[in-house]
Amino acid sequence: MNVLVVGGGGREHALCWKIAVSPLCDKLYCAPGNAGIAAEAECVAIAADDVPRLVAFATDHAVDFVVVGPEAPLVAGLVDRLAEAGIKAFGPTGAAAMLEGSKGFLKDLCASYGIPTAEYGRFVDAGSAKSFVREAGAPIVVKADGLAGGKGVTIAKSVAEAEAAIDAIMVERILGPAGQSLVIEELLEGKEVSFFALVDGETVLPLAWAQDHKRAFDGDQGPNTGGMGAYSPAPGITRQLEAQVLSEIVRPTVRAMKEQGHPYKGVLYAGLMLTDDGPKLLEYNVRFGDPECQVLCVRLMSDLLPALIATSDGVLSALDLRWHDHAALTVVMATKGYPGPYRKGSKIGGLDAAAAMPDVVVFHAGTAAGPDGTILANGGRVLDITATGASIAEARARAYAAVDRIDWPEGFCRRDIGARASNGAG
Ligand code: AMP
Repeated sequence: MNVLVVGGGGREHALCWKIAVSPLCDKLYCAPGNAGIAAEAECVAIAADDVPRLVAFATDHAVDFVVVGPEAPLVAGLVDRLAEAGIKAFGPTGAAAMLEGSKGFLKDLCASYGIPTAEYGRFVDAGSAKSFVREAGAPIVVKADGLAGGKGVTIAKSVAEAEAAIDAIMVERILGPAGQSLVIEELLEGKEVSFFALVDGETVLPLAWAQDHKRAFDGDQGPNTGGMGAYSPAPGITRQLEAQVLSEIVRPTVRAMKEQGHPYKGVLYAGLMLTDDGPKLLEYNVRFGDPECQVLCVRLMSDLLPALIATSDGVLSALDLRWHDHAALTVVMATKGYPGPYRKGSKIGGLDAAAAMPDVVVFHAGTAAGPDGTILANGGRVLDITATGASIAEARARAYAAVDRIDWPEGFCRRDIGARASNGAG
């Protein structure tokens, strides 16, 4: 098969790394890819959200199967356009991707089908949103309806903070069209966990549990980021909890989407809060988490490609995935300044020394090759130093030993990824 992976981050590097070793894969392309992905796939200079060019490339190069990494092309209907061109793909249609593409759509679906989530209201004007906030009081959560690259949620500690967030989104339009409408919801308290499953329209095949770290700095300080590290398995997740999440949240969602005429196919990533009243849904993502995908890929023993194809074909019930017993942990190395402004183009050394360590894989999240073959930082999140071990503590020690071999003065990482989990706490 000729396979095209869409995206150019660490998640897509991990997907390419797994797909490249599949006996089913003859030729692997990645658009746009990065300098690390170039070792696994032929990189094609097409942006991940350039739907017409991606469809044209897939058609011209006899691509049999497309694996879509990020949410933007999914919400923009890439899978639909590929289907029209007769090309199979992994990922939901644009209509099914609304689970992530519109928070209001998700909340209404939860309300209609009795899926546990935070109490909420939907608003299209700032005035009524503010009245609601004044009535409800703080703390309260203000969310832009559309895709906002992780910048659409404000946890407001005061009414004034919530009102400022409403003005920023609806009056100043800082998020553009993503802020045309708002969801305002109750603050949920508890432990936050992520659940991943493959869904083929009907059957739900749970993947391993993984946990990420969203804040930029040690001790969960600093601004929210795309994710500064992750580990798997997630301690404290019981079979009973998984069964409850499946029966109360994930399966009802999959049934609801089918009933509404938009069967969901792809990976479903549920952000959950474990509250005193049981697990509640915070959000869905319609793609793999980044960097959670990296730890899932190194723990997956089975061939990934047939699982992705079975998801697309609607035959997941015939499939079983096998996982390594070992734990995995990934540390994100980012350019200093991230998630704020940062400079591109700094030189990264020590990559070969890090990758040569046993049980270590270096995934590239944002790199480019320099003219002399050096590797240059080309984004905010730049490397995902990933290691496996008998326990999270062992994987963690290996990952940080590899991090210490990277020679990149312009980069930084958190030093506490998986620290609590290493001691048995979640
Ligand atoms: P979302 O994009 O909806 O997942 O929101 C991003 C992050 O904001 C989540 O991962 C949570 O940490 C936090 N969050 C979102 N909604 C709530 C809520 N209702 N209560 C508490 N935290 C929330």
